[in-house]
Amino acid sequence: MSFLKKAVFHTTVARLATLPTDAIAEVAFVGRSNAGKSSAINALVGKTRLAHTSKMPGRTQHLNYFLLETGKYLVDLPGYGYAKAPESIKKQWGGLLAPYLEWREPLAGLILIMDCRHPLTELDCRMLNWFAPTGRPIHILLSKADKLSRQAQMQTLKKTREALTILGEQCSIQLFSSMKKTGLEECEAVIGRWLDLPSKPDSQ
Ligand code: GDP
Repeated sequence: MSFLKKAVFHTTVARLATLPTDAIAEVAFVGRSNAGKSSAINALVGKTRLAHTSKMPGRTQHLNYFLLETGKYLVDLPGYGYAKAPESIKKQWGGLLAPYLEWREPLAGLILIMDCRHPLTELDCRMLNWFAPTGRPIHILLSKADKLSRQAQMQTLKKTREALTILGEQCSIQLFSSMKKTGLEECEAVIGRWLDLPSKPDSQ
């Protein structure tokens, strides 16, 4: 069985002080609201509703932890761009997200989900510019790829990749569709590398 299929809900974190203390390595998922983050997590772990707690009223600003094995986690971060008022955005960013991304020791890498029909929105660029100096790897999922023709998918991939060459090997990028279940293995391999978990274990 793939290591991702073992994912179980672990905890919801509302304050930095209550982040799991036993974490060895974790991979965080981030993206604009509606980019397809929950669907991507669910597709990767092979469950339909694992990542839905982040949509529950009052929970939209929380971090949701999914346990893969002892000390190894996937973390569903709050979607950004949902809050319209500058004050709410500031609060959202400053409260939990920014300090988590900047200081969380076990954070092995960031999966950034962007709708392939409009990648690199202003908020995505802000996130990238801000996170890149941490030196940690970033893997981008161009989500909902099924909404584009094969040719348009390849064009988007090429263009977005070109726009990100400045980040060099720190940043990788792929097409992804939760609906068609495409790109799962490529993403799983990246997460497996980051978490030091085999992406293709012997016992399938
Ligand atoms: P989140 O806010 O980033 O967690 O986004 P969701 O996962 O809730 O997805 C937002 C919307 O996009 C929902 O209506 C999903 O059904 C749709 N969606 C997500 N992934 C895909 C995909 O791969 N293909 C298509 N066609 N729609 C998708």
